[in-house]
Amino acid sequence: MRHYLDYNASAPMNKHVKNYIKEIIDFYGNPSSIHTKGRRIKNILELARQRIALFINCVPKNIVFTSGATEANNLALNGYKKKIISSVEHESIIKQKNTITVKVTKEGYIDLDMLENILQSLKSKDKAIVSVMFANNETGIIQPIEKIREISLKHNVPFHTDSVQAIGRLNIDFLKLGIDMMTVSSHKIGGPSGAGALIVASKKQILKPVLLGGEQEDSLRSGTEPFLAIAGFGQAAEILEVNKIEKLKVLRNSFENKLKKANLGIKIIGEKSKRLPNTFMMYTPKIKAEDLLIALDLEGFDVSTGSACSSGKAEPSIVLKNMGFSKQIASGVIRISLGLYNNIDEADKFVYVLKKILKRFENI
Ligand code: PMP
Repeated sequence: MRHYLDYNASAPMNKHVKNYIKEIIDFYGNPSSIHTKGRRIKNILELARQRIALFINCVPKNIVFTSGATEANNLALNGYKKKIISSVEHESIIKQKNTITVKVTKEGYIDLDMLENILQSLKSKDKAIVSVMFANNETGIIQPIEKIREISLKHNVPFHTDSVQAIGRLNIDFLKLGIDMMTVSSHKIGGPSGAGALIVASKKQILKPVLLGGEQEDSLRSGTEPFLAIAGFGQAAEILEVNKIEKLKVLRNSFENKLKKANLGIKIIGEKSKRLPNTFMMYTPKIKAEDLLIALDLEGFDVSTGSACSSGKAEPSIVLKNMGFSKQIASGVIRISLGLYNNIDEADKFVYVLKKILKRFENI
């Protein structure tokens, strides 16, 4: 039996989502076509839009469907010339051109004074934007989103947040937060991969499309919409129960406590910081993250060394390096991210297996 502890990379598809997709899998037609078959697909897209809007509390027409969060992040920032970002963003933000990076503290939070100083010192605020993620995909550390919004608002600079990891795990009310743009992704909340969205407060925002063509999504994202993926995304949002996921904190804490009690020298990164209820990153001395990951895989545990996008590379975690941790620590961390299908027995089994692996490595 395998144990999947990598929900932040991608969550298993919910059974209600699968059933819904099965119901409509034989449907076909282009949602832009005016005939009956086309309109039927269009209605499915619009139902998904409404379900997501209801879940996040935003105006349905201000949801722009994309292929995922990477594309949504690119769309959010594409029209801006100065992008003020944190040093722990996802690669789809970090790799943007014309970025100004705000460092994070050892606790993983953005340095708010530095953000304020940067915004203050901008000669022109024209086409400047702040983009800071809601919660980090590796450490789970939650940024002070309301304070960031306050500072951005004070300087009259729009604020975008990549909330991929926070959606469904924290209660998020887009309109109440007063954020200008927010990125979300389907496969992190139990929907299929291949769909995501950029949610905007108003389409008056500077939005420069990344893809040009057939002018779908109000000309903001051309290309025939992948209706099965979007429908599944909508269904995943419809059935999500954030309160249930918040309870994962108990399970996460029990993993952490059992690990600490085992006296293996394990350190939990950002233990005292405000974190997502389902995530922890642990440093294990005496063993490299890739070796541990492979050993755990052989024992039936799916975990990750930091972000899935980078886990193919045997490199230290950039997030940890930017939090000020040594190369040694940044190279020895693995991320555990839990979901509704995990249970307490897996915590015991995980500690048991980890002890076994560490003992074996000590003897090598
Ligand atoms: N942002 C964050 C914070 C993520 O964790 C991820 C997925 N690793 C992405 C963006 C990219 O998401 P997608 O796979 O939907 O492109």
